Amino acid sequence: MRIFKFGGASIKDATGVRNVLQVVQTMGVDNLGIVISAMGKTTNALEDIISSYQKNDATYLQLIDDLHKAHLEIVEELEMPFEGVKEVCLSRFRESGIKKDIKSIMESLKGEMLRNKSKNYSFLYDQVVCHGELLSTKIVTAFFNACGTATNWKDARQLIKTDHKYRDAGVNWQESEKLIKESCQRELFITQGFIGSDENGFTTTLGREGSDYTAAVLAYCLDASSVTIWKDVPGVLNADPRVFENTVLLHKIPYNEAIELAFYGASVIHPKTLQPLQGKEIPLYVKSFLQPDRDGTIITAVETLEPLIPCYIVRKNMVFLKISSRDFSFIGENNISDIFHELSRHKMQVGLLQNSAISFSICFEDKYHKIKELLKDLEKRYKVSPVEDVSLYTIRHYNGDAIQLVESGKSVLLKQRTQETLQLIVKE
Ligand code: ADP
Ligand code: ASP
Ligand code: MG
Repeated sequence: MRIFKFGGASIKDATGVRNVLQVVQTMGVDNLGIVISAMGKTTNALEDIISSYQKNDATYLQLIDDLHKAHLEIVEELEMPFEGVKEVCLSRFRESGIKKDIKSIMESLKGEMLRNKSKNYSFLYDQVVCHGELLSTKIVTAFFNACGTATNWKDARQLIKTDHKYRDAGVNWQESEKLIKESCQRELFITQGFIGSDENGFTTTLGREGSDYTAAVLAYCLDASSVTIWKDVPGVLNADPRVFENTVLLHKIPYNEAIELAFYGASVIHPKTLQPLQGKEIPLYVKSFLQPDRDGTIITAVETLEPLIPCYIVRKNMVFLKISSRDFSFIGENNISDIFHELSRHKMQVGLLQNSAISFSICFEDKYHKIKELLKDLEKRYKVSPVEDVSLYTIRHYNGDAIQLVESGKSVLLKQRTQETLQLIVKE
């Protein structure tokens, strides 16, 4: 089997959906499984719906209607005549019942919220956001089938079993492998990325941007020959092109190097994706859905990065915190363990740390906006000096020019280097 994954950007509109079909038809449908994310920014829209609902703000119903409309608009555009799409396909699509399917998914979403009695935000989150992937996979499957590419729609919640750590669920590999092997045979199938279910059948999610990971889970369980994630970039570049100019395509990346890049925050691949693939030496291709005939990047068991050049990763909106004891005593193991306990309790994601005799410095992401509470708790026992809104730059395979490029015009608050990796905390 081969596994393809198409993210939100690839299916953000009707043109995207048509293009995905073309990519799949060109690459061949034999022994293929496809994982699809929610369309465009649908998951963000669903997050807004939840936060409006939680504020007891009735506009959440309006937001649900807006999302319904946005999906119907894509369907309606797909129904329109388009060069290269035969009339018979269009009429099959019009008669596929897709609008009814969308309506019933939206009703299930409303029902989920109206019936909700749980005070557990993460639980509610998962029961709600899954609807984005349900909508996208239904639309893409209906379009594929109408256009003569016979496709089975599968509910990922019946394939991927997880624990009940809502919003960041851990995969139950044994159970999932059994279900996936039973259900996913040779015929083309489409399933949702990002979602699974716990032992009680409640929906769980694997963490934001988790569809890459879904592709890796399926590939691992099916002993797939490869995974391809289709992106709006030519492959993995040596930096995010939204932030850096003159980026260079990385042709070959060893698994461990890709794990490091993802770990430091290269958001092009979800960090959990690579380990299952490395375990079975399944290659991961990262390719452009706009130029599918180009080679892109292959991540596999090679010795070194090719080309071996500096790679840059930036994480913005981080907090830099310097902590010292109130009585000038050393910061020892007990303090460090205490500080980490607080960081973990407030769900801070640490990107860098450094300790000296009398102080301890940490750079972290305040993903859940809990900085005020964290500081209040730490201040009871320590002197703390926070600097908010800093950027954490990581340069793998750094050299003098690379450091200069990052440092120029910025104020460097801390610099840390190992043989391969240089990290800088800067205020821009
Ligand atoms: P998906 O549609 O699969 O969700 P993402 O938006 O998550 O795709 O990932 C693609 C984006 O990742 C690109 O548009 C690019 O801006 C960003 N990106 C960050 N780092 C890199 C990198 N090193 N190489 C390529 N793209 C990168
Ligand atoms: N739709 C989910 C998200 O936006 C999962 C994914 O896109 O990978 O986070
Ligand atoms: Mg994404």
